[in-house]
Amino acid sequence: MKRLRGIAASRGIAIGPVFQYRRIDLHFERHRVEDPEAEWARFQAALEVAKEQLAEVYARAKEDTGAEQAAIFQAQALMLEDPELLGAVRGGIEGEGVNAEAALVDAAERYARLLESLEDEYLRARAADVRDVASRVLRVLLGVADSPTAGLTVPSVVLARDLTPSDTVLLDKSLVLGFCTAEGGATSHTAILARGLGLPAVVGVGSQVLEVPDGTLVVLDGTEGELLVDPDEGTVSAYRARRAASIAILKKAQERAHAPAVTRDGHRVEVVANIGNVEGAQAALEAGAEGVGLLRTEFLYLERDHLPGEEEQYRAYRAIVEAFGDRPVILRTLDIGGDKELPYLDLPTEMNPFLGLRAIRLCLARPDLFRPQLRAALRAGAVGNLKVMFPMVATVEEVREARAVLEACRAELRAEGYSVAEEMEVGIMVEIPAAALMADHLADEVDFFSIGTNDLSQYTMAADRTNAQVAGLASAFHPAVLRLVGEVIRAAHEKGRWVGLCGELAGEPLAIPILLGLGLDEFSMNPPAIPIAKQIIRALTLDEAREVAQAALELDSATAVQELVRERVPVADVG
Ligand code: PEP
Ligand code: MG
Repeated sequence: MKRLRGIAASRGIAIGPVFQYRRIDLHFERHRVEDPEAEWARFQAALEVAKEQLAEVYARAKEDTGAEQAAIFQAQALMLEDPELLGAVRGGIEGEGVNAEAALVDAAERYARLLESLEDEYLRARAADVRDVASRVLRVLLGVADSPTAGLTVPSVVLARDLTPSDTVLLDKSLVLGFCTAEGGATSHTAILARGLGLPAVVGVGSQVLEVPDGTLVVLDGTEGELLVDPDEGTVSAYRARRAASIAILKKAQERAHAPAVTRDGHRVEVVANIGNVEGAQAALEAGAEGVGLLRTEFLYLERDHLPGEEEQYRAYRAIVEAFGDRPVILRTLDIGGDKELPYLDLPTEMNPFLGLRAIRLCLARPDLFRPQLRAALRAGAVGNLKVMFPMVATVEEVREARAVLEACRAELRAEGYSVAEEMEVGIMVEIPAAALMADHLADEVDFFSIGTNDLSQYTMAADRTNAQVAGLASAFHPAVLRLVGEVIRAAHEKGRWVGLCGELAGEPLAIPILLGLGLDEFSMNPPAIPIAKQIIRALTLDEAREVAQAALELDSATAVQELVRERVPVADVG
């Protein structure tokens, strides 16, 4: 048996034979053309076919994985209209007189390399999209059918160098048990799509993955990030048992997903969802969310070339608030900067964007950004239970300033005759160590806190959350982070404020007993994590959770904390 390690990208266990996904060879000869105009027309015709294919793939992906994931294909279709890319292809055909295949590959490769050279992780990842969409057009030009999956006939674990979004959609999901790739990181498409499909995945394992012959039996552990090649019988049956147990737990949890999360001794906590767009609201409700603990509003600002207006924002927020009726929806104001950039804002390049003019800092500096969003939120708050929170708060002054802008917008809207939320709770994200340490003062300024452990871990551990090389350091399970979380909750409760947590930690089964024990009031997570989270809470008493939490705070490492919970709360050891 060989054990290959990678990055855990999507939870769960898959056991089955290997299917090596190999892309078809798209070989062509580069040559000069007699009639460049006719060649350009041939290219345009291929472009149209590719767009039709993408529309079909989009529809299929939307059904399989939901609109959020499927949006990748809409973005790819837009790339086929990109004037720069098309101009470069045309230049190749009409200027240099080469065939469409060569002009396309040259232009796409140049474009992809340019993207890869950028600092922004998101844009770098788009290079794969450019290559993906170019190879689709190339297939059409060469008349090659879309079927690299012809050999996939029995349920298999799919191994590949990397999977592009189109690859993933082409696969017959009823025959895919899980994914394992040589390349890719936690934010790669393979990872995102696998999570959307609820399939286990391990990425970034290295090229040994490609040497495993088709048909070899493997165990893929998406929770631990491992691929076991040719395991012995004992190992297989141990993993089968783990898999069966977690499926049974999930099934039981799903049956009670819509019931509240109450501990055995009657302590109720709220379990709500993190969502990133209007479509996410439905998925959250279906998963049993009691509201939205984090509405990331960046979706309205990304993948476009100008700021969204107040009206557009109002309609989007209103749709979400209405979907949740009287359940709470916490809207987080724009958190741009760091790894999320808006090219059309033309902001100066920063040496350390995570320590720069990000989120609330940017919003306070740019009322043209901030005010339309606050106005839209206040108007949407008139139709439901909307709360607002500010991200990346470091100081009391920032909160006061932001609240003053909010009040000014409310007065303005009233004067203009709009219905507005008269009493809207206002909170902040606690995700900077300074805010955590000053929680007692900040609690005087707001109605609630939501702890953002994704950022709180990276700032506490001084480990960039987007850098795979220090990914292990930035663990929110580290007692340094947990101690801050505990202090924030204690300080807030002393002032009568409630506390939520909307970092990834809230949906981690092993973290739930600790957070419960530290007194967390609201757990906000990815919708698929909700049923299990509620089930873990129901299995505990508050005192049991408190004991685990206190013991965790005394340990000296993140792994020791996880081990402790595994031992003390077996029900939390799922996946
Ligand atoms: C966080 O930092 O924990 C958080 C929820 O915000 P984001 O991941 O959007 O930065
Ligand atoms: Mg954050």
